[in-house]
Amino acid sequence: MRGFIVLGTDTDAGKTAFSLAFLTAFADRFDYWKPVETGAPDSGRIKALVPQATVHASLMHFEEAVAPLLAARNAGQILPSLQQLRDALPKTTKPLLIETFGGPFSSYDENHLQFEVLRHLDLPRFLITSSAVGAIGRTIQTKIALDSQNSPLAAVVLVGPADPFAEEQIRKYCPELLVLNLQMPSDEWTAESLQQAVAAQKAKLAKLLELNERTNDSSDPRLIERDRQVIWHPYTSLADPQEPLAVESVDAEFIHLPDGRRLIDGISSWWTILHGHRHPPLMQALREAEAKWDHVLFAGATHEPAVQFAELLLQSLNWESGRVFYSDNGSTAVEVALKLAYQAWCHRGEPQRQLFIGFENSYHGDTFGAMSIGRDPTFFGRFEPLLFRTIQIPVSSESLDAALTTHSKEVAGVLIEPLVQGAGGMQMHSPQELKAIFEVTRRHGVYFIADEVMTGGGRTGTLWAHEQAGIRPDLICAAKTLAGGILSLAATIVDQSIVALFQTPDRTKTFFHGHSFTAHPLACSIACKNWSLLLKGNWKKQAGFIESYWRQNLVSLAKAKAVKEFRIQGTIAAVEFDTPGGYLAEVGRKLRQICLEEGVLLRPLGNVLYALPPYCTSEDSLARITHCLFRCQQSLANA
Ligand SMILES: *Cc1c(COP(=O)(O)O)cnc(C)c1O
Repeated sequence: MRGFIVLGTDTDAGKTAFSLAFLTAFADRFDYWKPVETGAPDSGRIKALVPQATVHASLMHFEEAVAPLLAARNAGQILPSLQQLRDALPKTTKPLLIETFGGPFSSYDENHLQFEVLRHLDLPRFLITSSAVGAIGRTIQTKIALDSQNSPLAAVVLVGPADPFAEEQIRKYCPELLVLNLQMPSDEWTAESLQQAVAAQKAKLAKLLELNERTNDSSDPRLIERDRQVIWHPYTSLADPQEPLAVESVDAEFIHLPDGRRLIDGISSWWTILHGHRHPPLMQALREAEAKWDHVLFAGATHEPAVQFAELLLQSLNWESGRVFYSDNGSTAVEVALKLAYQAWCHRGEPQRQLFIGFENSYHGDTFGAMSIGRDPTFFGRFEPLLFRTIQIPVSSESLDAALTTHSKEVAGVLIEPLVQGAGGMQMHSPQELKAIFEVTRRHGVYFIADEVMTGGGRTGTLWAHEQAGIRPDLICAAKTLAGGILSLAATIVDQSIVALFQTPDRTKTFFHGHSFTAHPLACSIACKNWSLLLKGNWKKQAGFIESYWRQNLVSLAKAKAVKEFRIQGTIAAVEFDTPGGYLAEVGRKLRQICLEEGVLLRPLGNVLYALPPYCTSEDSLARITHCLFRCQQSLANA
């Protein structure tokens, strides 16, 4: 239990009155902290009227009684950053009552409103409002606004004379909230008058305590044990001694654990989360969609979210014609592309073109077609006897030219992860190389398939990685980021030249493929919002900031001891360590452990440690990731 945050609908809502009353009742159980104060400090008032309470010093105090941002500007100072605030949380044995200033939508620093800062503290929020005329509207308005920003409230306290009608109405429209009234002494406030006023209302206030306990202690300490009984995790040995992280909740770039620890999600939860966890506009789109949709079949039926998202996808590619074939994960998007390419050749009268060319170090998913083309010996070696024939060549246009010449009449298509080969260790190649590979493919007249399952959505600095080479693939696979990482959705985007081969009344030429969950309406609704945000382009500023942060702060890794190579492409930064092969598995674990100690979740790929954070990641968090990469480097250099 770490406490709660006291918010007011506005400046004079009664936050300090509430704090006074609450601490008068429970000073033995709670400490008080107001991180930023201006004018006559509330902390002083609490100390004077509730002398038994522990009041922690504010982080910053300005004499001038104006908004903190204005006071800071006038004093030539900078308000504490989000990370500084969190780091400054008083380390007490008792939970904290944290008082804020103004309303949640008042300015905090130059770039944030107050609620955005509070979100990073991740504690239950109590809204204090005056019971004077207008309480219903004020309260409901603030509650809806906070909900829409993923900052839900836990309780509402109406300070002032009892108003049963207002309480009834607020309860009606906010049924999930605890709503109560708090009456303050009618004569002068002294320690004694406060004691008296509170004595009669202690049972009511105690409900807030229960709420706080409930909100903070929802996790089951036996979760890992229960997990061990019933779960089989991906890529994990059943005899693995490493416990999985029990995750309690997620928010922005953070993963919260039940013990109060907070990890920075440095790899966007397996490259899915694009803007940040529970990105408010996307969660809002989900809430709106949920009022109308669950799932509906997609064979012989259609719906607005699917059509609109397909339009947005094609628009983002500047494909005036072409089609979107939906499925539900990256591997199936790849299977669809392989099957479409082969069937297209069948329709063209060349069914002998059964060979696909892939690249060494590539990864395209875990289903059979994707394994056959990815062919990683560690992951898929076991299944080798069951895989179909493909060819793997180095990422080089010369090698491709040679392979296509040797197998000229056999090849159906070439499959590549443009610019960055993700699971293969964040291996990167230049847009020039990509363009050369594309041109060779064109010259030989076979299909070019871009697997943008990881790169799609701006990770590499452009919305689609292949854009940087100025090329136009025949098929594009996309999945992880389509719905911002919130729900599973995949698309295989097909060029008009292939579409045309299927536009025939001959039913035997139908593409017989489909999944139960094709074009899930909820996922498509989020994806529409996501893609319209991406097309507006604000993400470029954030992604550009991450990239320039890496360039400024990480490049010295390139020459550091124990480092074989350092690579950057857009928001992705990767360090390849110079560690002996046999040691690989152990090194990965050790690095992961070092990062966890620093509060950062990274998952090394063998001897490659990389970061690929969501776009919302703050400078503080980027600094922490940077610190981790250097600590890992030093630990290997000293080994
Ligand atoms: C993750 C990934 C896939 C597979 O996607 P899943 O949704 O995990 O099946 C395919 N291709 C690339 C490039 C990927 O990164």
